[in-house]
Amino acid sequence: MTVKEYVQKIQSKELSVEEGVLLFTKNIEEKNKELNAFIEIFDCKDQVKKVQERVDKGEVLPLAGVSVAVKDNILIKGEKCSAGSKILEGYTATYDATVIEKLRDAGAIFVGRTNMDEFAMGSATETSYAGPAKNPHDTDRVPGGSSGGSIVSVAGDMAPLALGSETGGSIRQPASFCGVVGLKPTYGAVSRYGLIAMASSLDQIGPVGKTVEDVEILFDHIKGKDESDSTSKEYPETKQEDVKKIAYPKGFLEEGIDKDVLENFYKGIEVLKKEGYEVEEVEIPYLNNALALYYIIMPAEASSNLARFDGVRYGLKNDTGDSVQDFFETRGEGFGKEVRRRIMLGTYVLSSGYYDAYYKKAFDVQKAMRKGFQEVFKKYDAIVMPVAPTPAFKIGEKSNDPLQMYLSDIFTVSANLVGIPGISVPNGTVEREGKDLPVGFQILAPHFKENRLFALGKKIERV
Ligand code: GLN
Repeated sequence: MTVKEYVQKIQSKELSVEEGVLLFTKNIEEKNKELNAFIEIFDCKDQVKKVQERVDKGEVLPLAGVSVAVKDNILIKGEKCSAGSKILEGYTATYDATVIEKLRDAGAIFVGRTNMDEFAMGSATETSYAGPAKNPHDTDRVPGGSSGGSIVSVAGDMAPLALGSETGGSIRQPASFCGVVGLKPTYGAVSRYGLIAMASSLDQIGPVGKTVEDVEILFDHIKGKDESDSTSKEYPETKQEDVKKIAYPKGFLEEGIDKDVLENFYKGIEVLKKEGYEVEEVEIPYLNNALALYYIIMPAEASSNLARFDGVRYGLKNDTGDSVQDFFETRGEGFGKEVRRRIMLGTYVLSSGYYDAYYKKAFDVQKAMRKGFQEVFKKYDAIVMPVAPTPAFKIGEKSNDPLQMYLSDIFTVSANLVGIPGISVPNGTVEREGKDLPVGFQILAPHFKENRLFALGKKIERV
């Protein structure tokens, strides 16, 4: 059942909100112990009652009774929120994120908060203090990350829709690993108010669903300008467009990618060609530098954002009797290894002796890369790429090798650095040890051209 069909059934009272929500919550009860998609499952009774009352009064709710799983870094008033970190143990949100407010108005039901890499740092959902989430296609493997829990909740039929967040691929990469659709919206298209920040110039909240249509529906209800987020923008009205020319990067794809994953990508290109699109190999300036830029800019911003977790304002506090010592003890205990690594990297590249050599240089190259993408988009309507160089890897396979882990982001980080939207759409499978593992196809478009991603995504997913 698509979200559209589901909402019709609720509005026409063929299905009560309670029955509708139960379709998914019974799967949560059955599967969550094994998959560890949810850090906390909510008691939905009050929400169900309220939405049913609104439906009974004749209110037309575009997301009437639709279950939505929410990543554990998006605030829901009165609920705990931990960003997958021990340092936020016991913290309860005092306000709703703007996306939550919007979805509540539209009649959605929040079913729980989902597992994630600590502070959204990771590609495997392994660094969560709540333990790793698992890939429903092979439970020995990771679901990808950092929005692994949200993705698994949809892939495992525990929720039809979910919210994730992206800084460098955290929606698209796990969507590819688990065979669902994930969108990273244009920077500024969705309010970040109430999202626990990782790297503010790259972060975006985004929708996850089974189909492109479902993702489009969720996106429509979270986008738009918000007075509480000065970087958010009014979403321009979208017109029907004629997408004709598509580019894919020259001299960038072959290195470090599994052979069958690359073949799978070329099959996707064939599909688009058969549909009548002109698809050409094109040099995309500075794309080779994207990963290096990301791992300078992201930790710089993250180290500043994470300074607020000091044992005084939120969550964990280690009381030693000495307030300066409290700060060190709390951060030492509350932050995991990967988070501490990035704080150190970030403070290093921002320190006075190295700022020009690292941060400023990265910032300048980022600007040049943005221009490069703009040039490509003058001639081409969209860019396509693989989502990740491999299918889902084994749990623990890369957790002791941060550089290997960072390489999973090679095809996704450019969209965040440039601020453009990107989508991952399921595109068949590859086989590993007798199991069929999903692989996604990535489409990128200019700022605020999500409509092109949806149009092209629907062509890919039909096959
Ligand atoms: N995997 C990337 C990282 O570890 C992306 C994270 C994200 O998008 N939140 O930083």
